[in-house]
Amino acid sequence: MHVGTSSRICPFHIIMKNQQKQQTNPRATLSRLLDMGETQLIIDLFDNVEIDTPEEVVSAEEYTPVNTDALNKLEWELKSDGGCQRCKLWSGRNKIVFGVGDPNAKIMFIGEAPGGDEDRIGEPFVGRAGQLLDKIFAAMSLSRKRGIYIANILKCRPPGNRDPERDEVEACMPFLLKQIELIRPEVICCLGRVAAQNLLDTDLTLGKLRNVIHNFRELPVLVTYHPAYLLRNPAGKRAVWEDMKQLLKLAGLPLPNEG
Ligand code: SF4
Repeated sequence: MHVGTSSRICPFHIIMKNQQKQQTNPRATLSRLLDMGETQLIIDLFDNVEIDTPEEVVSAEEYTPVNTDALNKLEWELKSDGGCQRCKLWSGRNKIVFGVGDPNAKIMFIGEAPGGDEDRIGEPFVGRAGQLLDKIFAAMSLSRKRGIYIANILKCRPPGNRDPERDEVEACMPFLLKQIELIRPEVICCLGRVAAQNLLDTDLTLGKLRNVIHNFRELPVLVTYHPAYLLRNPAGKRAVWEDMKQLLKLAGLPLPNEG
């Protein structure tokens, strides 16, 4: 629910309106709003970010060339001949959700599995949670097209959006490992408990997994809240923004207060 839509004039909107006239850097705006420490502002955090990624934030020279053909080939292998049938989920899926993003991404986000919208469209994190995630990316001056790649632990939707089962994860994990190997991000961010537990092979709670830099095959891994959780608990956005700043730092990208 968008808390700022009541008839009362939200101070966030007044500030945003005034600031739109002065500057358009969403990261700097969010940093200043957070410094103000207003609960309402935190709840509205990201809601008014325009998805308009400045192209100069990550220069082309910083990118390491990767074998994009190999990534395309992997996707083709997964989808050819009627699609992968390595686990039981193949029979109930509509579309295989391979992954999306910049093949030269410095930050790779990993979720647990496709939901209904993703299964229908064939792309990870669409729908309301995906829209919020795109706003978080924009606040970082990044996007699915620039600097970020998104994939899931599972490429097919579990029935009723239940948690992935062990045999499904074991069958599907080689595809994710190959994606990580080809993209070679600077840092990985797990979205939510289920993704983190499966990637890191742990049963620790989200509370214990957050605020720790984990290691996965020599890559730093951070764990943050799933965007669907933020839709239900907007106050968690402040913690997520702190996680995103840490991610930017680990990726060697500019921090918001330096924008
Ligand atoms: S979830 Fe993964 S392993 Fe299972 S059928 Fe889909 S692509 Fe294959």
